Amino acid sequence: MQLINRQCRLAARPVGLPQPSDWTFADEAVADIGDGEFLVAVEYVSIDPAMRGWMNAARSYIPPVEIGAVMRAAAIGRVERSNHPDFPVGDHVSGAFGVQRYAVSDGRGVTKVDLDLASPAAHLGVLGLSGLTAYFGLLDIGKPRPGQTVVVSGAAGAVGSIAGQIARVHGCRTIGIAGGKAKCDWLVGDLGFDAAIDYKTEDVRRRLRDLAPDGVDVFFDNVGGDILDAVLVRLATHARVVISGAISQYNATEPVKGPANYLQLLVARASMTGFVIFDYAKRYAEGIDKLSEWLGSGDVRSQEDVVEATIDDFPDVLLRLFRGENTGKLVLALPR
Ligand code: NAP
Repeated sequence: MQLINRQCRLAARPVGLPQPSDWTFADEAVADIGDGEFLVAVEYVSIDPAMRGWMNAARSYIPPVEIGAVMRAAAIGRVERSNHPDFPVGDHVSGAFGVQRYAVSDGRGVTKVDLDLASPAAHLGVLGLSGLTAYFGLLDIGKPRPGQTVVVSGAAGAVGSIAGQIARVHGCRTIGIAGGKAKCDWLVGDLGFDAAIDYKTEDVRRRLRDLAPDGVDVFFDNVGGDILDAVLVRLATHARVVISGAISQYNATEPVKGPANYLQLLVARASMTGFVIFDYAKRYAEGIDKLSEWLGSGDVRSQEDVVEATIDDFPDVLLRLFRGENTGKLVLALPR
């Protein structure tokens, strides 16, 4: 049977929020697979803020998506055809398959997915790069110690919700910053954060003064901008600021100014360190083992925001991240 591969391709480099005109869609006949290759029917696409960065031409930790290329995406799918002994038909696999219905792979960078352990969406979230980013970013860079105060921004998202729970598991006092009462209630009521600040209606700086009178020992920052500045003035001596991301800046149309309050790093003898999760590839298994253990014991809970839609809906699903419409890991589930 001739399969048709629907693809979402990058048409232009966006200025500000991605527009519909930044994308094109194409239908291609699926090519025959060669020796040592297999064909994946993509079922779940991970929706990540980093995608916005990959659309830019600027220097980064990974080459940009070229104009005309299929949009890069982590995804999970089912092996449909196979000439590869390690990836038989019917296996579920995870890899950088892109925003398309079918992907041909030789197995490099592809891992098998155990659906008895967790759902596909959870494999992209808590047991995927989002959970690993929380795990290594918090523990390796943040180095929280029991009794310390950990603040997480973007706390109700895929990375932030896990980072805050790992801090709690480590005996830290955990404060989340998120947009809206519903998200804040979820952090405290369901995930066991000690407190949450709604940055959309509350004064973050003032609330932190009340909630963290002895200062913030670890700040796991997913947001940057004004929130980073507000936390910098509350740092405890020898605090660690972990730069996971800066989603508030990803669609900026003006040059981004650095944090105005950066000299607070000097005052507090603090450090601010960025990291890229791909540098931890050799230790992913360690992180997944630990996260699976916590999921099993109930110490960490995961939430996935699964949107059932088509390849053509991808551009709008991506914008949900920037509108703050997701709680937990945002995943696009394609029709079977
Ligand atoms: P996410 O947090 O699940 O989703 C994005 C969230 O960001 C939204 O739900 C929204 O929540 C918040 N947001 C959007 N625009 C904002 C703004 N202008 N100001 C404040 N908050 C805003 O996304 P994620 O996948 O977990 O990623 C979180 C961060 O981790 C991103 O910065 C990403 O780049 C970073 N990351 C880093 C690495 C690494 O290797 N360093 C790897 C993966 C991800 P609210 O409703 O709370 O506003």
